Amino acid sequence: MRKAVIYTRVSTDEQTRGFSLESQRERGINKADELGVTDTIVFEEAGVSGEVINRPALMDAIAASQRDESVKYFICSDPDRLSRDLTYLLLFTEQIEKGKRVELVFTDFNREDTAEGKLFYSIRGAIAEFEKAMIRRRTIGGKIKKAQQHKWTHWPDIYGYNYNEGVVTENEEEARTVRMIYEWGSNMGTASICGRLHALGISSPRGSRTWSRTTVKRILENKSYHTGKTFIRKYDTGGTHLNKYRADEDKLERKLRPRDEWVEMEIPPLVTEEAFQAVQRRSLVARRRATSNINGRFLLSGLLRCGHCGKTWHGHSGWNHNKTKRRIYYVCTYKSPGPPKGQGLERCPTSFEPAPLIEEAVWNTVKGWILDDEQISAFHNAQLTRHKPSSHSAEREKLVERFNQINREEDALIERLARESNPRVRGKLNERLDKISAELDQIQTLLDELDSAESETAASEIDSEAISWIRENLPDPEQMSFEQKYEVIHRLITEIVIQQQGDELQLDIRTLRPMPPKG
Ligand SMILES: [Zn+2]
Repeated sequence: MRKAVIYTRVSTDEQTRGFSLESQRERGINKADELGVTDTIVFEEAGVSGEVINRPALMDAIAASQRDESVKYFICSDPDRLSRDLTYLLLFTEQIEKGKRVELVFTDFNREDTAEGKLFYSIRGAIAEFEKAMIRRRTIGGKIKKAQQHKWTHWPDIYGYNYNEGVVTENEEEARTVRMIYEWGSNMGTASICGRLHALGISSPRGSRTWSRTTVKRILENKSYHTGKTFIRKYDTGGTHLNKYRADEDKLERKLRPRDEWVEMEIPPLVTEEAFQAVQRRSLVARRRATSNINGRFLLSGLLRCGHCGKTWHGHSGWNHNKTKRRIYYVCTYKSPGPPKGQGLERCPTSFEPAPLIEEAVWNTVKGWILDDEQISAFHNAQLTRHKPSSHSAEREKLVERFNQINREEDALIERLARESNPRVRGKLNERLDKISAELDQIQTLLDELDSAESETAASEIDSEAISWIRENLPDPEQMSFEQKYEVIHRLITEIVIQQQGDELQLDIRTLRPMPPKG
């Protein structure tokens, strides 16, 4: 692939004289076509005088032509686009053509035919001579630069250290805070860490009383703290110091330099590699959980039921009150969106529950079963204590008796109806039959209600085969992915009834099988 960089520029007064970027670009592209170029990269500088040397688009154009191996031409309309000052013109030309790969091409200027062109060429020749001398200087300069490389040219202000005239030492107090943050980071999130720092009255790196989660996160992700290595000259900040004079859309961003230009520096490590890894493991789990919710999947979907109104709960993602963060919740369907309209049904008075809270509680329970048989027995015992054997059996027996009796009556009536020919008697029999069917329906409804009440109070048992399978085939609970957790939870749990009592939340976990009656 052959590429060309096209550089266009108009100053403010040229703009008013109709000297447009568009026409320069068009001629540039035509020229590129002529030269058999497949790709062009266009850099535009509007309203900037040729006297300004450090022009962002020009710098970018030159850098692009040097960095991208497939660039063969640097095209602009005339030398004035680069600079009106001959010295700078030569300097830019030299930079563009120095590798002898890129050729500088003008669309509206002929090097050979004009006096300027001839002058340009003769000076280029003189420069070539001059360049030979320069190469020697550059080599020496390079050596000096290397020698200087591993000295601090500036201090990047890393929290936890003191810097004094090129010497970096541990800042005792800040270093202790860093270690503490890592210790906490292996088992809690950034928000909790911020809370603890605040509670301890430790001020942030910027001297504020409160810590932001980003600050804590940066500290936990900064590899320098355990490797003892950091880099300077990692970013090209060229021109960014002038940003305050630029409109927002023109502001320059600092750019990452090529990796081989970074200079590695040593600092005293503050934490161990193990401490760093422990934090990474925790955040990996947290991230997976977060991702799963972004994808619209909730760990407990389909399992939650309202202890208040009996409807299902579902996952819900929404903004916090000042709309700065998205949070995820579970909520009763009759609370949000609420009961179907126009049927006089009441909205469920339960409130939204943060999803991580419920998920963590459920997952911890399930994790316990997988890791420890005693947790399974504990669950079974709790089930037996909580779910007293049903007291409905007598009532149920009576209902069944009545049902059977009426059922026999119905059979007899149907037989009589089949033999009866008198229309008056038939009418009476039919009336009677209707009443009997209604009564049967009623008893059936009562029985169904009893059955469902019964199943709600029945103790349930954990599927021991499923537990063995999980132990043998899945990774350690701490290492499980969202998918695996989801599978495990749905394999073992059939329903979780949520009871909100004041500020308290009760989760009644029902497992696969009803517990067999004792004895
Ligand atoms: Zn409800």
